Amino acid sequence: MTLRKIVTLPDPVLKRKARPISKFDKDLQTLIDDMIETMREAPGVGLAAPQIGLSERLIVVEYYEREEDEEKEDAPKKVWAVINPEIVKASEETTMGVEGCLSIPGLVGEVERHAEVQVRGLNRHGKPMKVKAKGWLARIFQHEVDHLNGILFPDRATRVWQPKQEVEEQQEF
Ligand code: ZN
Repeated sequence: MTLRKIVTLPDPVLKRKARPISKFDKDLQTLIDDMIETMREAPGVGLAAPQIGLSERLIVVEYYEREEDEEKEDAPKKVWAVINPEIVKASEETTMGVEGCLSIPGLVGEVERHAEVQVRGLNRHGKPMKVKAKGWLARIFQHEVDHLNGILFPDRATRVWQPKQEVEEQQEF
């Protein structure tokens, strides 16, 4: 596996709408594994292909599957790789949260997101998959799908600021 370089603003790839993936070949498998490794090394809880300079519809996420596990440090995390992800359902209920982005170092913002979402897409072998996400996991998926449409958290934030302390790992994606 190879660590990929995370691109940051003002790289124009971050503002572009990424193209769908149609080939589920060996190169895609390598790319997914590289993205997972790059996300862990960063460290972050999610990464979208445009963040490594590739304008393709692919995201990886690593977080607690169940919302009630967020508080438990030893609870296992799950890894998702979703190709051509789409948010097909979103709760009316929203929540505010403070997000950072690996592609926008030194900045955080308060962003309103749907409290629950359903994401549909394809797994790494091209098979349909669905994820039901609540809480912070739902936030991560919304942030990553935004990346595929050239949308960054400051575009949605009610306010942005430069934090005095380093932001926590779970806030960066
Ligand atoms: Zn991001």
